[in-house]
Amino acid sequence: MDIAAERAYPTPLANSTLLPLLLLSLATQRNAPRTSATFKEEYDYIIVGAGSAGATLAGRLSEEPCVSVLLLEAGTGQPPLLNDVPSLGRNFWFTNLDWQFKTVPQRHTGNALINRQVIWPGGKGLGGSSLLNGMLYVRGNHKDYDNWAAQGAKGWSFKDVWPYFLKLEDNRDPAFLANGYHTIGGPVTVERPGYRAEMREPIYEAAYNQGYNILDSNAARQTGFDVLQATIRNGQRCSTSKAYLVPAENRTNLDIVPEAHVRKVLIQNKQAVGVQFDIQNVTYEVKARREVIVSAGGTNTPQILMLSGIGPKKHLQKLGIPVFADLPVGKNFQDHCGTITPYQLDPEIPTTTEKIQNPQNILEYIDSRTGPLSATEFVSIIAFLNAQFVSAIEDYPDHQIYFIEIPKEFPEQQVGYKPGIYEAYYKPYENSSMFICLSQHLHPKSRGTVRLKSTNPYDSPVIDPNYFEDPDDMRPIVDGK
Ligand SMILES: Cc1cc2nc3c(=O)[nH]c(=O)nc-3n(C[C@H](O)[C@H](O)[C@H](O)COP(=O)(O)OP(=O)(O)OC[C@H]3O[C@@H](n4cnc5c(N)ncnc54)[C@H](O)[C@@H]3O)c2cc1C
Repeated sequence: MDIAAERAYPTPLANSTLLPLLLLSLATQRNAPRTSATFKEEYDYIIVGAGSAGATLAGRLSEEPCVSVLLLEAGTGQPPLLNDVPSLGRNFWFTNLDWQFKTVPQRHTGNALINRQVIWPGGKGLGGSSLLNGMLYVRGNHKDYDNWAAQGAKGWSFKDVWPYFLKLEDNRDPAFLANGYHTIGGPVTVERPGYRAEMREPIYEAAYNQGYNILDSNAARQTGFDVLQATIRNGQRCSTSKAYLVPAENRTNLDIVPEAHVRKVLIQNKQAVGVQFDIQNVTYEVKARREVIVSAGGTNTPQILMLSGIGPKKHLQKLGIPVFADLPVGKNFQDHCGTITPYQLDPEIPTTTEKIQNPQNILEYIDSRTGPLSATEFVSIIAFLNAQFVSAIEDYPDHQIYFIEIPKEFPEQQVGYKPGIYEAYYKPYENSSMFICLSQHLHPKSRGTVRLKSTNPYDSPVIDPNYFEDPDDMRPIVDGK
């Protein structure tokens, strides 16, 4: 336990005298597996990126003792213990757990942002974005899976994926288990967060009085106000590293290698035969007997493929990359864009920073894993709605809204507002507690791209979600306001 390293992260707990006690209590759950300093020349499978997908695949493939697996991850092998505290998630943005990317300047939005660029947090380290995400346990709408299957994605209909949702889950909430849509025994722990925000009950009550359903959105229907569930284990973040890699750490057929930045996939005769990667400025190559699996996330997967010569021919030729396959990699890029509206809470309610720093709350969290520290990044409620929300017959909501208590540092330092915007919109309220209503599109029509800036694998990919290129994308977001 490295207390100085934990204090170096910009969390409200950095100077707390209770930090050592808190860390001791967090250490009862291991959030990262033992890793390998060495690796072999050849494996059956090489997995690039140990995020939500990569960690899961490594854990599952290596269950078979006769199969050898190498898992390569660019980020750290040892995320800080404080990353386990659910309320602190956003404090790890802009640290070594985040790739710290931004989009290119946006043509159709971004006027309030410096250089019209939108921040693009992405997890880096064993667990990937499951180290930074809001932990909200959302399976998604059945129809989206069925639409993919109808478009040719064999095996992706909701009926097909349903057994896997059950297989991954260890639901600790008897009320959810009783509704028939949940199960126990899987590697990913799901719980109800142990924090009840002051605004929670009034919002549920108002929603109920307006005729909205209050429901488990992971069960029969999605439309309504959700009873929040999260991927947390006994009040601590349950990253995919914790869920899938820690239990696999003693397997001799799995090597987990962090701080290994993959440069490209090696290709021979149109076959992926291995990968090239750097560890501490030394470049290595390892061979794959069966498959190379690139699970480096939504922006870095296309980046690695294009660096390997798989992508749009014209783009690759312009950069001088030999083309192995002319494919539309990096196209059809979609993001669930949204916008935030701030509100002031009752002045009696402490700010989130005050809540986190309050010694009583820290002790409550140490003692029972409840209270404000257990909040899933202070998201209190989410709702899946559509324009005809109350009477919607078709269960296919078009926007999601989140009610989130925020510290002033979020708009002041994290969003990237132009000078003057924070002062005009937030400053008048900065000494009282605030919450934002985030309204997010669920089916954006705009399509963007991911492109290479250069042939340097350490350059950020050129990320262009092309928000609001289709003007229809504005309406559901405004409906959510
Ligand atoms: C801020 C935030 C909040 C979110 N909140 C939620 C939520 O509440 N609920 C929810 O369901 N989803 C949420 N998500 C989305 C969810 O976390 C992601 O969809 C999911 O984690 C993506 O998994 P992935 O495996 O595709 O990518 P990632 O988990 O991002 O994993 C990619 C991995 O590849 C590694 N990598 C990248 N490039 C290289 C390279 N060159 N060499 C080696 N390794 C590399 C990365 O470091 C990373 O570890 C959120 C995401 C973010 C960023």
